[in-house]
Amino acid sequence: MAEHHDDLLEKDREYVWHSMKPYHPERTIIVKRAEGVWITDSKNRKYLDAMSGLWCVNIGYGRKELAEVAKKQMEELAYFPLTQSHSPAIELAEKLNNMLDGQYVIFFSNSGSEANETAIKIARQYYHQIGQSTRYKILSRYRSYHGNTLATLAATGQAERKYKFEPLATGFIHVMPPDLYRHPLQETINPRERRETKAIEEAITWEMKETVAAVIMEPIISGGGILLPPEDYLKAVEEICRENGVLLILDEVICGFGRTGKPFGFMNYGIQPDIITMAKGITSGYLPLAATAVKKEIYDQFKGGELYDYFRHITTFGGHPASCAVALENLNILEQEKLYQRSHKSGKQILQILKQRLLHTPYVGHIRGKGLLIGIELVSDKKLKTPLDVPYVNEVISYCFEKGLIIGKNGATVAGFNNVLTLAPPLTISEQEIQFLLEILVQSIDRLENLIKS
Ligand code: PMP
Repeated sequence: MAEHHDDLLEKDREYVWHSMKPYHPERTIIVKRAEGVWITDSKNRKYLDAMSGLWCVNIGYGRKELAEVAKKQMEELAYFPLTQSHSPAIELAEKLNNMLDGQYVIFFSNSGSEANETAIKIARQYYHQIGQSTRYKILSRYRSYHGNTLATLAATGQAERKYKFEPLATGFIHVMPPDLYRHPLQETINPRERRETKAIEEAITWEMKETVAAVIMEPIISGGGILLPPEDYLKAVEEICRENGVLLILDEVICGFGRTGKPFGFMNYGIQPDIITMAKGITSGYLPLAATAVKKEIYDQFKGGELYDYFRHITTFGGHPASCAVALENLNILEQEKLYQRSHKSGKQILQILKQRLLHTPYVGHIRGKGLLIGIELVSDKKLKTPLDVPYVNEVISYCFEKGLIIGKNGATVAGFNNVLTLAPPLTISEQEIQFLLEILVQSIDRLENLIKS
């Protein structure tokens, strides 16, 4: 077993270009199989995956139902592009519509980046279609993440991810997001008057509203460090967009499909976006699929008969029949097993215990989350809220890893804010598994005191 493992690692080093990180053979495991919340590596070590892969395996690993649906679909119709149609795509589009509580038309693609790129192109073309072709700017927020393409990276608000790839697509502007830890909520102030909301209104005014096409935001900034908005923030943003004739795009790539305890993250905040993008949890990661849901009134503007009236945007694999069939089964499981409710309940429980056991410790500044999307912000000085140095944050993660627990680390490296530990386990996580997760995580954070003093 070990020999085989070493051999694979050798080849991995030789041939595979991993995303994001410098290559660390000593920290790379070869994942062989997975079941529920557990992954097993080629040395037969088990880890509780409290990040659901990359925030996506919402129904947990190893669900045979999905494999069977994919097999059946591939035998019947392995592939056909959505230049024509097929029933898995039609049924899924109808299902998403029912979930979204509005009238939306769905454009399928393959990844979260593509879903956002599609949304940006639709927003820009829409304004041409309705005779307001001066509107092209896209407003987003610092610390957000919207994808790896040159336009979605331009929308992303993390400078270090753009560095060395510039120039990116043009026409993107950014404002600061809410950060309730560093700028606690001013309860008494009308939501429209708070700094975070004002930032959006003022940016639109100063850019000249006639040039702004859309605002894009995650309901809760995830990769940027789990930044929750004040409860009434999104409603105020929606109002500002409506007043200025700007489209509101919600990036539900992480928050969608139960991650925050509701089918979609925006549903926590009582708004109805113009465009909604989704990926990851739509298939729980079993096959690649993404979608851009667009309000019917917008879609209707693309129906003219002239050559450039339609949306000239093609995808070979978007809406792949097997992916759509798997998504439908995945959505059935989420509903039948009441995983939205379970995410809400388990998230509340984890937050409560984490706060009890960690908030009084010297290096935990803030604990926050919604559903099973949770962040623990580590600081070196609780008064000054100084982000904890990354080597110590890494110590916490490595200790967890050694003990069989995978957690994440997020934030923004550029400002030294890579100090938020993240948890986003499968929504199926059991009581016993939650206890295991908490035990190791608390131990790991408790160790910091000795590590830092020594
Ligand atoms: N939007 C958000 C909020 C994301 O977190 C991500 C990926 N983590 C993306 C878009 C891009 O998705 P993908 O990696 O599937 O392209």
